[in-house]
Amino acid sequence: MLLTSCYQLIGEFHYMRVYISCDIEGVAGIAHWDEARKSHQDYAEFRRQMTSEARAACEGALAAGASAITVRDAHGTGRNIIGRELPPPAHLIRGWSGHPYLMIQEIDQSYDAAAFIGFHSSAGAGGNPLSHTISSRMLHAIHLNGEPCSEYRIHAYAAGLVGVPVVFVSGDQTLCAEVSALQANTRTYSTKRGEGASQTSVHPDEAISGIRDGMRMALSGDLSRARLQLPDSFSLELTYKEHTDAYARSFYPGAELLAPHTVRFKSGEYFEVLRALQFLI
Ligand SMILES: [Zn+2]
Repeated sequence: MLLTSCYQLIGEFHYMRVYISCDIEGVAGIAHWDEARKSHQDYAEFRRQMTSEARAACEGALAAGASAITVRDAHGTGRNIIGRELPPPAHLIRGWSGHPYLMIQEIDQSYDAAAFIGFHSSAGAGGNPLSHTISSRMLHAIHLNGEPCSEYRIHAYAAGLVGVPVVFVSGDQTLCAEVSALQANTRTYSTKRGEGASQTSVHPDEAISGIRDGMRMALSGDLSRARLQLPDSFSLELTYKEHTDAYARSFYPGAELLAPHTVRFKSGEYFEVLRALQFLI
């Protein structure tokens, strides 16, 4: 059967495929790296919250008529979400394949919509005590075409590459503002607001119901309205914390050392940007 990028209508039934990528630094309540690290005792509580928010997104998708759901565990080891707690139609991707689609690996044009849950503001931004992009250890900031680049932006463009609209994003308030500025038709739900090393969060249960309702509503309208138009060309600038990392990575094909801490890579193909990120971080 030929898959299409919009609803498949058979009789009265909609067959909708939804891809949900989940991170932890934007879930309700999380305020410190100890709470995001598997090896620390503070992690268990937020692993549960991440799982509950992922489940809520699945439930919202099912309420909107989704018949197939892929959940991507996209934090750290990729082994955080407790699979048993997701509703049975959901498939769960754990671990990292090494594919340049990173946090949305295995997405393709067969999906009708994508959603990002528990996402967070970018490296170099405030708005979350855990703000970073891809690597908090190595990178000070990433800019794409002159603008600070979050994990949301990297993967929203990647979804755009296969024509899948990102219809819903949950995470900190600063990220939600970035999402709305880039694509006003993407629905957002803010779990918390960061202030320096602190954050103020909605109640964990309120986040769960907000994500469930937000997801259902985001999937109920015209999904194509949230599709992103990709820029014609890309200039990626990675600013490393250590100049030694910048120097070593400046030898990636097509990359150049722009400043002691900054490597630039330019391409007209977004997949090449994703490939570069895979090797430059
Ligand atoms: Zn993460």
